[in-house]
Amino acid sequence: MIIVSACLLGLNTKYDGKAHTHAMLQKYSTKGKFIPVCPEQLGGLPTPRVPVEIIGGTGQGVLSGDCVAQGEQGEVVTSEFILGAKEVLKIVELVPVTAAILKERSPSCGVNCIYDGSFSHRIISGQGVTAALLKEHNIPIYSEEELTEERLVELLERV
Ligand code: SF4
Repeated sequence: MIIVSACLLGLNTKYDGKAHTHAMLQKYSTKGKFIPVCPEQLGGLPTPRVPVEIIGGTGQGVLSGDCVAQGEQGEVVTSEFILGAKEVLKIVELVPVTAAILKERSPSCGVNCIYDGSFSHRIISGQGVTAALLKEHNIPIYSEEELTEERLVELLERV
């Protein structure tokens, strides 16, 4: 099975109650090989919720306790972000997961880059919290932005 950020599949899980629907992923969603997950919801955060960025580092730093996940007004949601990542990991332990396709730039799901914590749309290299935890556990992670149809078909054939 392939874990996919729920918002990419059209679920309204984004902080603003909307989705990031990705046409190519939706096209293949009826094959029954995707598990939609939203780590921020799994961590207990409401939808809609405040937009959050990682302050002073990346998802790896949040997992190691070196930095925090925080809203623009200072709302600290580090524990919810870590809980959500661990809940996603539980899914990996329940079913055979061969890959994860995750929403780029999200503080939970970002694969190659995330926002830098300044709430000014600047990005830095690094993963979100859930992406970092999955990578630590050797689950191959891909962002929707780097996914070609050919690569997606290959990933689906491995399920
Ligand atoms: Fe989408 Fe991930 Fe944000 Fe949930 S946490 S809305 S799945 S990018």
